Amino acid sequence: MIINDILIVRHGEVALKGINKPYFEKALLRRINSEAEKIGATGAPDFKAERSDGLVIVRGYAPELRETLAKRILKIFGVATVSYAWELCSREMDDIREAAVLWIRRIVEGRGMDCGSGPAMTSFKIAGKRSDKSYPVTSPEMSADVGGFVLEALGERVRVDVVNPDVKLYIHLRMNAVLIYDNSLEGFGGLPLGTNGKGLVLLSGGIDSPVASWMMAKRGMLIEAVHFHSYPYTSKRAEEKVMELAGIVASYVGKINVHIFNLLPMQEAIAANCPEDEMTLLVRRAMMKIATIVGEQVSANVLITGENLGQVASQTAEALVVTDDATTFPVMRPLIAMDKVDIMDKAQEIGTYETSIQPYEDCCTVFLPKHPRTRPHLENILRSEAQIENYEEIIKEIMAGEVIQIAKPE
Ligand code: ATP
Ligand code: MG
Repeated sequence: MIINDILIVRHGEVALKGINKPYFEKALLRRINSEAEKIGATGAPDFKAERSDGLVIVRGYAPELRETLAKRILKIFGVATVSYAWELCSREMDDIREAAVLWIRRIVEGRGMDCGSGPAMTSFKIAGKRSDKSYPVTSPEMSADVGGFVLEALGERVRVDVVNPDVKLYIHLRMNAVLIYDNSLEGFGGLPLGTNGKGLVLLSGGIDSPVASWMMAKRGMLIEAVHFHSYPYTSKRAEEKVMELAGIVASYVGKINVHIFNLLPMQEAIAANCPEDEMTLLVRRAMMKIATIVGEQVSANVLITGENLGQVASQTAEALVVTDDATTFPVMRPLIAMDKVDIMDKAQEIGTYETSIQPYEDCCTVFLPKHPRTRPHLENILRSEAQIENYEEIIKEIMAGEVIQIAKPE
């Protein structure tokens, strides 16, 4: 009997895509191949990731790479679940029975003894499933038959429990093979990267904007970033922290280009010419204007921020109107209606939290007004902005100092 060790990849929402499904599936395969290549799995002569009747099957990798590969695939957007599985090339009942016994025996032996009172008893359930309805044995018959065989072969070490089994063993009979697996590992779902345009994220060193980037990338959007610092008021270390955050987000998306600018000349001009309580808003507008120029250069479709309604003075509804006015791009704010605790949980889950909370100064904290304006009127803000006579030159000066760094996963 030939048993292939495989990974079954299920692609959740991609499966709902109707006539566009092949496009999404191909994008997903490209991502899987690219992750496999990074760990050298594609070097094996039989390596292949392919679509197969609604699933993606990955096979032919070196056994020692199996776990690393599965972990990487779980981070790919568009992947709902991954299962470690066996593929039997024979569909004979005898072979199916034998493979089921092998699988469950392996688990039983792995569990060892039960508190010294004898071998632990493992409860199991066989869940048969047929895609090939012409196969002479029905799913319930197969479950009962294979279950009986396992009981006979493993004796006192196992018992059947159809409600809450320790092991639920799936036996999926397909047209050319049988797939055997027990549990599935959860991925993030979403859509494959590159299937939904490009977003330019305004990335700070805080908790929110890395989460916002991740959430848009999860919907298939390619991500580039802009970051503003106020060197020498902000430190080089603060900039490194941002690159570190971009690197963590890059571990889901491959790599991220980060366009870095020193915003200090504009901050100084605003401080010298405009009311103090409008400082934050005017700085946010300058960021949006520069991001708009970069967005056009890199052919982005939208800007992305980590803004969240009511979180701080610059994120009231009135303030967001003032910020939006500074760009011609649609601004996507995926966190807008989330509670801070939920954003923090998400940051923990995706791995950015610990880096985000490191205490480095942000450019927004330089020249921070004591009482920022929370209910601004656009006309007033525009009037203040017009006080800065050489506004466009300052923007050009800042743009000329652009540094592009590429964030890659470690
Ligand atoms: P974050 O946690 O993302 O820093 P925040 O709650 O601190 O957000 P603000 O400082 O008001 O909020 O910033 C709002 C948004 O503006 C951020 O989510 C980010 O998209 C953008 N932003 C703020 N500071 C910078 C910066 N230095 N460089 C680039 N974008 C920035
Ligand atoms: Mg911030």
